[in-house]
Amino acid sequence: MSSRRKFIKNSLAASAALGLAGTACADDKKPTVLERSTTPKALSTWNHGLPANEVAMRVMQDGGSALDGAEKGVMVVEADPTGTSVGIGGAPDRDGNVTLDACIMDNEGNAGSVCFLQSIKHPIAVARKVMEETPHVMLAGEGAKRFALAQGFAEENLLTENSRKAWEEWVKTSNYEPVINVENHDTIGMICQDANGNLSGSCTTSGLAYKMHGRVGDSPIIGAGLFVDNDYGAAVATGMGELMMKTLGSFLVVELIRQGANVQEACEEAIQRIVDKLDYKSFQVGYLAMDIAGNTGAYAIHPGFNYAEMVNGKNELIDAKSYINE
Ligand code: ASP
Repeated sequence: MSSRRKFIKNSLAASAALGLAGTACADDKKPTVLERSTTPKALSTWNHGLPANEVAMRVMQDGGSALDGAEKGVMVVEADPTGTSVGIGGAPDRDGNVTLDACIMDNEGNAGSVCFLQSIKHPIAVARKVMEETPHVMLAGEGAKRFALAQGFAEENLLTENSRKAWEEWVKTSNYEPVINVENHDTIGMICQDANGNLSGSCTTSGLAYKMHGRVGDSPIIGAGLFVDNDYGAAVATGMGELMMKTLGSFLVVELIRQGANVQEACEEAIQRIVDKLDYKSFQVGYLAMDIAGNTGAYAIHPGFNYAEMVNGKNELIDAKSYINE
């Protein structure tokens, strides 16, 4: 058993013995009760997290909730045609169709999601509508699009000239080989905490470039691409979605926090779970998490995963630690 695993096991036993819920353990194994932070904070994956954080913080400063921040923040990236992994300009599937996945979760445990959605620029906003306007959690494909149109979203072509040209080049070899850390801006996953201390999160992507038509990744799957438990913490994922789907990684991170791990240990354990069980070497996965005290953690399989953290007016890009060190 690794020392981290022993630690988590010991921490759980200690917490259980003391009857503590919602605790985190410092390295000396003393359980510490997490105090909810009320300092607004935005946390999001990759370089494009910087502009997303700016908008999310502004929304929260203007009185918006963590949910508003998490929605509006990632919309900046969805609307950017130069990003080839989210929203408009996203790389298409192998048949040339841009298909989008997104989900959102609020502080009350409500969730909404869309997957395999085409021709709608802001899947995250549609996911929020699914959460708020339907009795369901997830809508897929044509049904999701029909719902979006009925909600007033416009239909538009999301395949930009650049993405079309890149796809036409790819078609010549049709060699499907997902690249680790594509351009440092894959899926955007975002976690916000507002002035009431509430947590919400969002996750939006065009998925893997040149995936099979119909492929859906982790990003719209509650528990895989995103999970929020407002009593403990929230986590988001980026990278090879199949690995997070097989381990329900974002849920796992939050569950480990609930059981007493600190936020960094929780991210590391969720990566360890992939390493222990799956063929991981040629794939990237990154987890990013925040607990209710505003502590943040991140961990990836490979170096190169970074994230943006904004609090008290300071917006910083930080390199995550990784299981493989190069
Ligand atoms: N997780 C996304 C997916 O598998 C891709 C990514 O993060 O780049 O669809």
